[in-house]
Amino acid sequence: MTGIIRLGRIPLAPEGVKQRWPFPVGMHLVTGGAGFIGSHLVDALVARGEAVRVLDNLSSGRLEFLEGHAKDQVEIVVCDLLDQTQVRDAMRGIQVVHHLAANPDIRLGIEVTDTDLKQGTLATYNVLEAMRMAGVSNISFSSSSAVYGEAKEMPTSERYGPTLPISLYGASKLASEGLITAWAGTFGARAWIHRFANIVGPRGTHGVIYDFIHKLQRDNTRLEVLGDGRQEKSYMDVVDTVDAMLHIIDRDDGIGASLYNLGTTQTISVTDIAKIVIQATGLEDVEIHYTGGDRGWAGDVPKTWLDVEKLYSSGFVPKMDSRGAVKSCADSLVSEIGLRKPR
Ligand code: NAD
Repeated sequence: MTGIIRLGRIPLAPEGVKQRWPFPVGMHLVTGGAGFIGSHLVDALVARGEAVRVLDNLSSGRLEFLEGHAKDQVEIVVCDLLDQTQVRDAMRGIQVVHHLAANPDIRLGIEVTDTDLKQGTLATYNVLEAMRMAGVSNISFSSSSAVYGEAKEMPTSERYGPTLPISLYGASKLASEGLITAWAGTFGARAWIHRFANIVGPRGTHGVIYDFIHKLQRDNTRLEVLGDGRQEKSYMDVVDTVDAMLHIIDRDDGIGASLYNLGTTQTISVTDIAKIVIQATGLEDVEIHYTGGDRGWAGDVPKTWLDVEKLYSSGFVPKMDSRGAVKSCADSLVSEIGLRKPR
């Protein structure tokens, strides 16, 4: 499906909007804006009075996530980032690009080896090239802790290196970061690179909590956990995440590319997440079965723990810690997915 769906008015410079960005007020392009994190970012931008254009091919995104914006300054362009002509068209009148569109499924790389290359690296190249041709020079990019691979330092700070990803997804994120800093260095673009922990919350369409709830929907007596359950990662609530992204753009001019880990200070194990999800469903006597091994799949990193000191010392503290974010996500997805609690 290709086309433009207008959800509301689109003034280029909304009246009465206070200048708070390091660039003139103008329209924001959110690639992947119909997705999980992207739709929450659209909510946050609209709440600030900003005009937003969403570019999404709806491969994992859903229009219903944006339904609440029918009266707002939101426009949706349904197209694929691999279509350069359409991406160039979508760049008209844009001041800042928030580039979130990508394949979200790290596991897919095991079976389809060019997905991340196309949906990650090439898509990012197309975004940057369209920006250059349209004279757009601000990009905020959603990267991942996957760029660190199996880091030897925990918690892992932005200064850690060499970054040696072990998944094709992580490789495409690192390649995209490299393209973005190269564009910044060569063409003078300003860039904000956010390396996310695991992001969770309402509208989630993938990830461990989502998988567990679906498994319990199919069989409410048994929960299969990939690996030995001891994999440990940090989690961040999606609303905290988009607030942190905008906080960074607000306070850092992005010159020379600003790089931040986005996460919380603690980790939580997969076994603990399984227990929290089971509790959220209200199910009793669920047996947890482990497939064994130290990781869920080839390319999975058993432990990720981001050093978030740079984010915290910039004045941003997330409202939820890892456990709180997991619990709140489990509650909201149980009601979204409709897994009934027994009486
Ligand atoms: P998501 O799948 O919900 O969102 C991705 C969006 O991009 C979807 O709406 C999809 O339809 C769109 N899209 C994908 N390929 C496209 C293409 N070729 N052209 C146009 N649109 C396309 O995933 P998400 O969890 O919201 O992730 C958003 C970004 O954050 C991604 O870049 C992801 O890699 C990154 N990230 C997410 C997490 C997490 O825990 N969710 C962690 C680290 C990084």
